[in-house]
Parts: sequence; structure tokens; C-alpha cells
Amino acid sequence: MKQFESLRASSLYCKKCAAAMPVREKLLLVLPDKEIYDYLCTNCASSLGQREVTAGELMMARSQTTRRPAMSQIGF
Ligand SMILES: [Zn+2]
Repeated sequence: MKQFESLRASSLYCKKCAAAMPVREKLLLVLPDKEIYDYLCTNCASSLGQREVTAGELMMARSQTTRRPAMSQIGF
């Protein structure tokens, strides 16, 4: 799953935990031209933020780390 590393925030500040916590990335919504991810605290599962990733960004990020097409992971 190396191709996801560049898209993922490794940790975000959690108000509940009062510390920067590792986050879990959850795919919230898949649209034709982008995906929306929710970042959840791995400790208390609070939503710490969201990120929109356009299809172009996904393609670029994945082509930088892997040479093979990863269309199945985009979800079309
Ligand atoms: Zn937390």
C-alpha cells in the first residue's frame, strides 16, 4: 500500500486527546472527478479533518510511486 503514503497525513492535532495523534484515513465519498477522505483519530475516532483528492492528483501521486495503473483502487 505504498502508493497511499504520499496522500496521507501522518498525524493531526486532536482536541480530545490534546495531542497530535496518528490518523486513520477513511474514504468518505467518491465522485467522478475526486475522492473525499475523512481523517479520524486512531485513539478516539474523532474526525480531525477532511481532504479532497482530485482524480488528477490521485493519478499523479500513484504514478510517482508505482508504475502500474491503479484504476481499481480509484473505484470507477
Ligand atoms: Zn483523539
